[in-house]
Amino acid sequence: MTASNTLPSPRPDGRRADQLRPIRFQNGIAPHAAGSTLIEWGNTRVLCGVTIEDSVPRWMKEQGVAGGWITAEYSMLPYSTITRKARDISKGKIDGRSQEIQRLIGRSMRAALDLEKIGARTIWLDCDVLQADGGTRTAAITGTYVALALAINSLRAAGKLTDQVALKPVAAVSAGIVNSQPLLDLSYTEDVAASVDMNLVMNAGGEFIELQGSGEEASFSEQELAALLALGKAGIARLLECQQAAINSTTDRPANPPASGS
Ligand code: UDP
Repeated sequence: MTASNTLPSPRPDGRRADQLRPIRFQNGIAPHAAGSTLIEWGNTRVLCGVTIEDSVPRWMKEQGVAGGWITAEYSMLPYSTITRKARDISKGKIDGRSQEIQRLIGRSMRAALDLEKIGARTIWLDCDVLQADGGTRTAAITGTYVALALAINSLRAAGKLTDQVALKPVAAVSAGIVNSQPLLDLSYTEDVAASVDMNLVMNAGGEFIELQGSGEEASFSEQELAALLALGKAGIARLLECQQAAINSTTDRPANPPASGS
């Protein structure tokens, strides 16, 4: 997004600099998926679905690579943006931005799951943006982790996972500098006005999986970088709690609740 420093302060939605937009997960939104959730993060909403196939790509078999495979697809639905965004299929090729984002989602989830332990399976991560208002990639990663955990839990409950497969929680958030002020979790209006834009992907151990940071027709100092990292790190800690609560809310529920009146 282009730089301009015209955004009024305080933030358009009245948030503090270190405040996340409200976040909510609606699990089980896609019943045919092994795990799914609709992450609603402010006005950004992303459908995250996980499908597990009992096979691996041919190259893995041919090269004798042990374990499973994980792959991600990201797209924005045509009506997710203010002006209609044509589907990739109508252009005949995938958008460069979508490709970059889906690779990021794949890398992030590979950090969450030990592929050697899941057996000869392919895990498909599908992220479809229903409504875009900034931070769709961070919402896709944060939501996909929840969907992945639900899928792994259901596989385990069905007795299909023999090894102990431990998931390492992963979440993502954006931060940026707007009107010289470091802010957590930029909305679209803030993203457009930001002079520095950063995306952080981190795990529950406080380690970084990916950092994307760039000055938009601007540069940034080490001090500003430190401020963005501090905001991001605190945001990730809160997101990890929200994810866990969302996972528990589904997992704690009996798989087949008794029929009412019985
Ligand atoms: N956006 C849009 N159309 C596009 C790409 C982006 O309307 O083709 C908007 C959308 O609100 C998105 C925001 O611009 O969330 C910021 O886009 P960016 O590429 O920085 O990725 P994101 O912040 O969504 O991860």
